[in-house]
Amino acid sequence: MRVIVAPYAGFCFGVERALKIVENVVQRAKLPVYTWGPLIHNKIVVEKLQSEYGVIPIREFEHPPGYLILRTHGVPPEVVDEAKRKRFIVVDATCPFVAKVHRYVKLLMDEGYAVVIAGDKLHPEVRATLGYVGGGAYVVDDREATSRIPVCKKIGVVAQTTMRLDIYKEIISVLVTKCEELKIFNTICDATIRRQEAGIKVANNVDVMLVVGDRQSANTRQLTDMIKRANPRTYHVEGPEEVNPSWFNDAECVGVTGGASTPSWLIDKVVDKVKSFRQ
Ligand code: SF4
Repeated sequence: MRVIVAPYAGFCFGVERALKIVENVVQRAKLPVYTWGPLIHNKIVVEKLQSEYGVIPIREFEHPPGYLILRTHGVPPEVVDEAKRKRFIVVDATCPFVAKVHRYVKLLMDEGYAVVIAGDKLHPEVRATLGYVGGGAYVVDDREATSRIPVCKKIGVVAQTTMRLDIYKEIISVLVTKCEELKIFNTICDATIRRQEAGIKVANNVDVMLVVGDRQSANTRQLTDMIKRANPRTYHVEGPEEVNPSWFNDAECVGVTGGASTPSWLIDKVVDKVKSFRQ
């Protein structure tokens, strides 16, 4: 059975960067090291950071002060203020593409636009972004939710970095009917689009496709949905133990990709598992 790993599978720039930041802090830290929530949406990596480097994810400040690393998805500004008040040393590992979204929503608010965030209101990235406008933004994830936004003079819109481009376009097409002036920022991350395109291309040419990544990871779930439309024999697995040999009946070629928070060593383990089912 032939196995093809899609280009761009695994860690993106923002995740690589955050892990390097953690590594640097751990090497010189004489105080405890924390992250605000999980550093990335991959529990295997987060558990490894805790067991090997003692990096603890926290959600409140009832801990002895130490270094507080802000995760790739960003955190609301009030968390940073509170951390400083409680004498934590704040280290910012927010992905620069996410930080750019924070700057844009602030700018829109300062310029008097009604701010719309296209994304999932429960996702930590969107919750952090909302914090930059004091919660004063509409969060929508589809055409129907967008249609409920009242008519305004000026609307400014940003997208969650992992938003699907086709859904963002639909949201924009509704917004344009709601105002005199619409300011659009394309904040969808290139890494997401490149990974999706490369995954779909591979999925079109294989019998079975596997997407490796945590079920908590929005970009991995979205990647799976998109690839599944190209190839219905697509399966989302968190690791090699979930790979089921019955998926590969009659398969000659298998494709593998991984979400932005999936380490390459985990993708390799899935590849090895598939190869072990040699026919
Ligand atoms: S997917 Fe894009 S926005 Fe998200 S962390 Fe990676 S590089 Fe940054």
